[in-house]
Order: sequence, then C-alpha cells, then structure tokens
Amino acid sequence: MKCARCSAGLSYNELGLNKKYNPAGGALCLGCLAAKLGVSEARLREKIEEFLRAGCLLFVKDT
Ligand SMILES: [Zn+2]
Repeated sequence: MKCARCSAGLSYNELGLNKKYNPAGGALCLGCLAAKLGVSEARLREKIEEFLRAGCLLFVKDT
C-alpha cells in the first residue's frame, strides 16, 4: 500500500495510524498524515508507542 499524497510505501504502523486518525481518507505516510492532522511526525511516533503500550494490535514494534 502507498501514500495517497506522495506514493511513499506505508509501514504497518503507518496504516495503523490511518485507521485511528484518518479512517475516511486515503492512507497517508507519517509525514503526510502529520501535515493533514496539523501535528509533528514526532508526536505521531509517540502515539504509536502509546498504542503499543496499550496493547493495540494495529501496531508492532520495530517496523
Ligand atoms: Zn506521503
């Protein structure tokens, strides 16, 4: 699967973030999703860590 804006390849965790934050739009890479949401990429990486700690199966370690 590729980013709907820039055609970058999407990781499993990026797809997970899209399911959480961008369920209606085309799937976006971390950078494009951050731009769309108006947050930093670092913040999205933190959210991945938070979901991992919560046991969310949409995310995996080390992708
Ligand atoms: Zn992109």
